[in-house]
Amino acid sequence: MKALVKKQAAPGLWLEDVPEPRIGINDVLIRVKRAAICGTDIHIYNWDDWAQRTIPVPMVIGHEFAGEIVEVGSNVSDFFPGQIVSGEGHVVCGRCRNCLAGRRHLCAHASGVGVNRPGCFAEYIALPMTNVWVHAPHVDLDVASVFDPFGNAVHTALTFPVLGEDVLVTGAGPIGLMAAAVARFAGARFVVITDVNPYRLELATKMGATAVVDVRHRTLADVQRELGMKEGFDVGLEMSGNPQAFADMVANMSHGGRIALLGIPSEQIVIDWRTVIFGMLTIKGIYGREMYETWYKMTVMLQSGLDIRPVITHKFPWSDFEQAFKVMREGNSGKVILDWEG
Ligand code: NAD
Ligand code: ZN
Repeated sequence: MKALVKKQAAPGLWLEDVPEPRIGINDVLIRVKRAAICGTDIHIYNWDDWAQRTIPVPMVIGHEFAGEIVEVGSNVSDFFPGQIVSGEGHVVCGRCRNCLAGRRHLCAHASGVGVNRPGCFAEYIALPMTNVWVHAPHVDLDVASVFDPFGNAVHTALTFPVLGEDVLVTGAGPIGLMAAAVARFAGARFVVITDVNPYRLELATKMGATAVVDVRHRTLADVQRELGMKEGFDVGLEMSGNPQAFADMVANMSHGGRIALLGIPSEQIVIDWRTVIFGMLTIKGIYGREMYETWYKMTVMLQSGLDIRPVITHKFPWSDFEQAFKVMREGNSGKVILDWEG
């Protein structure tokens, strides 16, 4: 089958013919229809420090996708050929304390699809049945293909109550954009989103943000004044990984405010702990999504009217993957999708 492979320990990706994956008795074989490019894939493409330390080569990469089940293992009784599914990107160990307690998103030994094991930028992917999510009927395939990052957005945005609250999202990347839409849908009063990229701030308006802030030109204090806010943001969703964005967030929270940290900083960062302490802030790290409560919430929010389609800005046939990666790397995009059906 055709697959995008990290073939060598060097920048780039290679379109290769590789053997189709074989399934074990507990696995499901899926024909990939759409796949989406994640920031992680860009790190792997660029072969930065993290990728060099993490990715064994050769490796078929990619973890965001939607496809159709074509075969199930002999021990699989709940999934059937023909079902439209996506895959949870974290394969958990099932044996650690958290897994045994049913808190699989807190697994101590999760391995990553398209990172530690073969991924979905390919015609077929095999996954354990425990990692398969069956979509609701008539789901939009493009939307289905971004359920993994949509799940990051939903898990982060709903980790603290937002009904009637003022929410600050730092970073209008695809995940920040979706989180803004989710916070609004979940009843936040104001959803303010920051970035330094005008294209993405424009998209944020389409996603329903109350106010968008280019932090090169306006401060959060200005925006609070314009909105008539007096005491700071109640909930912060850090989705940039940028140290200054996090510092600005800490400085603009209300007393007792709650911060969820999803963005991954590329190095250690300094924070003003006095403001955290005297402001009585809660800070929570977020990794992945809840299995499978987040997937359930995504499905039912779409059914009840949440629309995340504006976040999908580009679509390419798989053979144009270089162009797709170029668009992603340049940053003037939301989600970029590869169509694997052609
Ligand atoms: P992204 O890199 O596309 O988006 C980050 C955005 O932050 C960009 O639009 C960038 O312009 C913006 N930014 C840069 N400097 C800024 C500043 N000073 N203030 C405000 N915004 C600024 O990433 P994404 O795919 O949307 O993911 C968001 C973050 O979450 C990334 O850091 C990613 O690595 C991380 N992530 C974490 C998890 C997890 O499980 N914890 C999962 C996926 C992604
Ligand atoms: Zn575990």
